[in-house]
Amino acid sequence: MPLITLLPDLPGCLVEQVSRTEEAIMITACASAPSASCPDCQHVSSRVHSTYIRSPKALPSSGRPVRLCLQVRRFRCSNPACQRKTFAEAFPHLLAPRVQRTSSARELLRVIGEAMGGEAGARLSQRLAMKCSPATVLRLVRQEPLPSSENVRVVGVDEWAWRKGQRYGTILVDLEQHIPIDLLEDATAESFAARAREASLRGSH
Ligand SMILES: [Zn+2]
Repeated sequence: MPLITLLPDLPGCLVEQVSRTEEAIMITACASAPSASCPDCQHVSSRVHSTYIRSPKALPSSGRPVRLCLQVRRFRCSNPACQRKTFAEAFPHLLAPRVQRTSSARELLRVIGEAMGGEAGARLSQRLAMKCSPATVLRLVRQEPLPSSENVRVVGVDEWAWRKGQRYGTILVDLEQHIPIDLLEDATAESFAARAREASLRGSH
């Protein structure tokens, strides 16, 4: 089995080098496509303007953290009518713009956060060699659109620790489908009542 198959999947990328430091496995990679499309006019360009490096964290490998060293090309738009002069190539299946983790690493942390909450999720993330803070775990959970609550019949309510022992929110769970349907900022009866009113209004439409 080639060693490359043991590394995290990097869609749209060619792996150039793998090295190991004290802290992490480093994967140097670049895009596999020779060209990219302008996000404004969709013209394909292969005229490279410049390159820069992004270093997102990826899924761990064999219990060790993995960091990418991803070479990103900035292209000149080849369409004279386009307002945009240059654009950076996108890695839609690997990495969103301006984030510090690959999409697969973000998704795993989101699932952990959804199941365990911020504090316990952060502790598990450290054991899994993808250390992140409770606040980051919660941010990833909250960024995900929650399932529609319009057809929920049985709602469970539980406390959600934003910060252990200091601040609690409320998590609402669809008890029939066993999925979270909303996170409320605090654990007061008022915020729960407001959310319940909102849901019943929406359900009556
Ligand atoms: Zn363009």
